[in-house]
Amino acid sequence: MSKNSKMILKNCWEINRCERHTSGKKVHELGECIASKEGMGHSCWAIAGTLCGDEVQGSVGKKHTSCSKCEVYNLYHRTAGTHGQLIKEIFPAENTKYRQIILDKIHQISGINNNNSLSTS
Ligand code: SF4
Repeated sequence: MSKNSKMILKNCWEINRCERHTSGKKVHELGECIASKEGMGHSCWAIAGTLCGDEVQGSVGKKHTSCSKCEVYNLYHRTAGTHGQLIKEIFPAENTKYRQIILDKIHQISGINNNNSLSTS
């Protein structure tokens, strides 16, 4: 992949132009989106409480239907997205966080106690 990969693989706030990222024009309304704060601009469907659509979103389960129709999800979902594999390679730190969220969710479902750093509920 070229040196411009990071620019081509835009963050969700660049794709959706929400202005909820650091220094975005709407940060004064509801604060900076957790996807931006946590550097998860290619993984926002996996985090609860994002600010898409100008309101605080609920749990990952509740927002799944709308996220699954979103361009960000369809580009960057690690298995279903057209660029999911590239995100793993180009943004390893973000991918490590994403993997931890998925593992925490699996542990939560299976009843194993774990420390979540990012909430999915
Ligand atoms: S998750 Fe939604 S509201 Fe949050 S930064 Fe991304 S596009 Fe904007």
